[in-house]
Amino acid sequence: MTRSRRPFFCGNWKLHGTIAESLALATEVRNGVATHRDADVAVAPTFTALHAVAKRLEDGPVAVSAQDCFWEDKGAFTGEVSAPQLVEAGCKYVILGHSERRQLFGELDAAVNLKARAALRAGLAPIVCVGETLAERDAGETLGRVQAQLEAALAGISATDLERVIVAYEPVWAIGTGRNATPAQAQEVHRFIRARVATLAADVAPRMRILYGGSVKPDNIGALVGQPNVDGALVGGASLEARSFAVIVKNSI
Ligand code: PEP
Repeated sequence: MTRSRRPFFCGNWKLHGTIAESLALATEVRNGVATHRDADVAVAPTFTALHAVAKRLEDGPVAVSAQDCFWEDKGAFTGEVSAPQLVEAGCKYVILGHSERRQLFGELDAAVNLKARAALRAGLAPIVCVGETLAERDAGETLGRVQAQLEAALAGISATDLERVIVAYEPVWAIGTGRNATPAQAQEVHRFIRARVATLAADVAPRMRILYGGSVKPDNIGALVGQPNVDGALVGGASLEARSFAVIVKNSI
């Protein structure tokens, strides 16, 4: 398949894994995707495993992402982890605005924007998550909700910095539910996201990678990435099995 954008796959391990388990999984993922050179691949372990996993994966084809960061670089912010600390730990990416952070921890669009700007300042590539709830979809508010989240998250970010931003469309009703968006539903929203990014930076929009996330599995990824605006996936549950994750990457390229 000829593509204008290099596919990207990131495994979000959420709150799973001891350091030893994360190292074992990272090694399996590295071995599983070693021959798939036509995609960028990353894994996102828990904070405590980041440094060890980054060391294990150093100089290999799999990069490391964090699952969140704080917007200040240092200070009296008990419990937070800053973007420069993530860079020091070996991260290249950071997932921001995941729906679990928004729903369970009250994270607001303004915080996602501050975090994205901090990540870019530190040299990280933010993976900015947006997506509607089932109630919003049923009320016909999908595109409006996604637009509001996207524009708030990207506010004030220069075109140069936007080059490093990755957007993940993750319908909340599809995360961890086994119910994924149809390829047509994903394409509609991804095309819309690209059009909105074009209003911010026309040159950047055609190059921006827009990932789909929500119950991605080896048997549904092919049809999703077959859509012209779907450039890869943010994978939760299926990324905890190295073989499934490797097959997802393989079935996409
Ligand atoms: C996610 O948490 O980003 C996700 C997409 O999860 P799952 O693949 O399990 O639906």
